[in-house]
Amino acid sequence: MEKTIHPALKPGNVAVITGAANGIGLAAAKRLAAMDLRVCLADRDEPTLKEAIAGIDAGDRVFAQPTDVSDASSVDRLAEAVAERFGAVSVVMNNAGIGGGGDALSNPEGWQRVLGVNLMGVLHGVQRFVPAMVEGDEPGLVVNTGSKQGITQPPGDTAYNVSKSGVKALTEGLAHTLREKTGGRVTAHLLIPGFTYTGMIARFLPEKPAAAWTPEQVVDRLFEGIARHEFYILCPDNETTREQDEKRIAWAAGDLIENRPALSRWHPDYKKAFEEFMGSVGGSR
Ligand code: NAD
Repeated sequence: MEKTIHPALKPGNVAVITGAANGIGLAAAKRLAAMDLRVCLADRDEPTLKEAIAGIDAGDRVFAQPTDVSDASSVDRLAEAVAERFGAVSVVMNNAGIGGGGDALSNPEGWQRVLGVNLMGVLHGVQRFVPAMVEGDEPGLVVNTGSKQGITQPPGDTAYNVSKSGVKALTEGLAHTLREKTGGRVTAHLLIPGFTYTGMIARFLPEKPAAAWTPEQVVDRLFEGIARHEFYILCPDNETTREQDEKRIAWAAGDLIENRPALSRWHPDYKKAFEEFMGSVGGSR
């Protein structure tokens, strides 16, 4: 049953997941290990990574490699460690991510950090692992973790929005290149989580809010999306429906088409128009 999700998800095949010590990455690592893949968990948080590995009952089919994805040489070492331990890679999930950038006029160090991890980290993973998948003749699967913030651009952490917009553009370009070069043998997908209760959120909220999904729900949706050949794997959560997301995305695209002010969804002059646009699906706030 699981084997039909994607031909790269075969028992014994090798998966590498970044940001795997916690949250969505850890849930994905556990799922892949349960599907009998061999899994390398990469994360820069060594103590949490050790705990994560200890919590996966898969013997020597899993191993942990401390990695800072923002550092290309660290990702090179990750690739070497995986090659030495497991051999060729079939599945890559570039998932490590952080918040805490800033708005356009603040926190230059935060911008460097957020773009370094969220955007350059994904690029390092793509450029280090995917060429060998293309050159080989086996099925391959690439998942990059984006965000709705990279599509609808809510004000606040503009650095995060920029990084996730970059991940969207990078993954779209990658999917096109892979289609041209491999005819669908290696596929790329953009995972777009909704509000998910993970380490990133637990830092601010000690208990899971009812609105949030669990990381396991996101992974269920990821595998459902891959099985349906979706490129954009958009996740709802317990307060936001797919219909609301679709309308918000359409409104954001409408800013450009209608020549409205930037981020008009949050502009007082457009409050009423946005509410009317959302209409009966709700979610105008
Ligand atoms: P999380 O904090 O639980 O997990 C992220 C992991 O990435 C952590 O273990 C962290 O140590 C690791 N990490 C951070 N910087 C790293 C680096 N430089 N190198 C290697 N590892 C690093 O958060 P999460 O919510 O599971 O986040 C996973 C992905 O999902 C992120 O890309 C995040 O932006 C995205 N996302 C999360 C949500 C949400 O609501 N939680 C929503 C949309 C998108």
